[in-house]
Amino acid sequence: MVIKQTIADEIKERIMAARHVLVVTHVNPDGDAFGSMTAVGGVLKQMEVDFTLAVDKGMDARFSYLPLADRVRDGSNPREEYDLLITVDGSHYDRLGYSYADVRDMPPVINIDHHGTNPNFGTVNLVLPQLPSACEVLYELFVQMGVEINAEIATSVLTGMVTDTLGFRTPNVKPRTLEIASALMAAGADLPFITMHALNLQPFASLDLWRMMLGNMQFEDDFIWVAASYDERTRLGNEGSGSGGLSSLLGNVKEAKMAATLSEVEPGIVRVSLRCRPPFDVSEVAVALGGGGHPQASGCTIHDTVEGAQQLLAETAKAAIRRQTAALA
Ligand code: AMP
Ligand code: MN
Ligand code: MN
Repeated sequence: MVIKQTIADEIKERIMAARHVLVVTHVNPDGDAFGSMTAVGGVLKQMEVDFTLAVDKGMDARFSYLPLADRVRDGSNPREEYDLLITVDGSHYDRLGYSYADVRDMPPVINIDHHGTNPNFGTVNLVLPQLPSACEVLYELFVQMGVEINAEIATSVLTGMVTDTLGFRTPNVKPRTLEIASALMAAGADLPFITMHALNLQPFASLDLWRMMLGNMQFEDDFIWVAASYDERTRLGNEGSGSGGLSSLLGNVKEAKMAATLSEVEPGIVRVSLRCRPPFDVSEVAVALGGGGHPQASGCTIHDTVEGAQQLLAETAKAAIRRQTAALA
């Protein structure tokens, strides 16, 4: 059993005793964040406990097929009185945005996550870094809570599993991951549909942005990266689109050991997405710059111009590559 029965029991008891639960996830949410949030919503619905699902900037159209997508709201409502907070896929309380800041003094918090960099900020912490997605942590929890996995819950859970494993292709996928995926399909989740919508489909605008970024690709001392300034991004009308897919592409460049995309999302605020393949570990770079994540997929935010951020990041990443290469020799 990957989760202690005592933890599953405690989480279940706290939920059953709650009047109104607030569920939050990390800013700039991905499929695992939305999947986790709506999966917990599905379980709370089944348990007949009132709930609110809140994340900064609300739902992403890509995931609008998710059950309870219409229940995901932008930010929390501080006037409402929540008596339990559940955070999912939230590596750190600083990453939970205003949805969490509004209620951060309100205990208790159940912190359900899979980031090795999670500082266990909850009252109850269920953090399993060996699992590839928060949704997989949730599945194991639901089974031990005795939840009946219906088609809606299955669709949410499988969405997070598919997106965080890039369609079951990351090094942390285990036989158990595929066993769970199989059970979720049997429960009514449509794997090809989820893979198409959550992973494969890209708006033309994203490729337009990638083309521009790849045009300025840099490769020095085993570190490969691309960057887009705020002006370049707005010129293409691409302010909102993510570059996680582009980071993954760069992370698979055979000759490189670490890869990054830098996006100046607001003037002077540069979001960095980092990737690598085992045995290298980019979380060391992210943590050194105030971020976090997983060994092979991490991120951080640098407050500087895109030029300054590139210089700082390249220096930090190249030093980490030298150190890690030496340690492996
Ligand atoms: P991304 O490159 O945005 O797909 O993120 C890769 C992984 O790093 C995800 O698991 C994120 O949750 C995590 N991550 C990204 N940015 C940060 C940050 N600033 N602090 C902590 N974790 C982050
Ligand atoms: Mn996530
Ligand atoms: Mn995740």
